Amino acid sequence: MGNRHCAACKQIFQPRPQSPRQSYCSSPGCQRQRKGLWHKNSLKTDPAYRDNQKRAQQAWKKRHPGYDRQYRKDNPEYAERNRTLQELYKGSGVGEKAAPLQKWTHQSHSIRWLRGFIGLVESQIRR
Ligand SMILES: [Zn+2]
Repeated sequence: MGNRHCAACKQIFQPRPQSPRQSYCSSPGCQRQRKGLWHKNSLKTDPAYRDNQKRAQQAWKKRHPGYDRQYRKDNPEYAERNRTLQELYKGSGVGEKAAPLQKWTHQSHSIRWLRGFIGLVESQIRR
């Protein structure tokens, strides 16, 4: 009884008896997605959580001054990818339609791949 589809991978799984309302299977990827969503949702709806996060972030930055800058210096590829993505989302008429794509294009694709992908998105949208 009680089999359901995972909200992330759509596979059928059996919720654990102690959490009958579980809507994600137990695979690490899906659990990560669930936590990510929870985090995002909490940021949106829970001012205390938001405040907490902000404070934690600020505290971390204080302990690691110059980290962002150093990171970009050590990872020029990352910095250029970011610029490429920014161009994509700002310039090209793709704009907000591409926002849902933003998350996974930040994963480890090469710049060349991204440029190709950007072109593809543009051609789809302009049709
Ligand atoms: Zn799943």
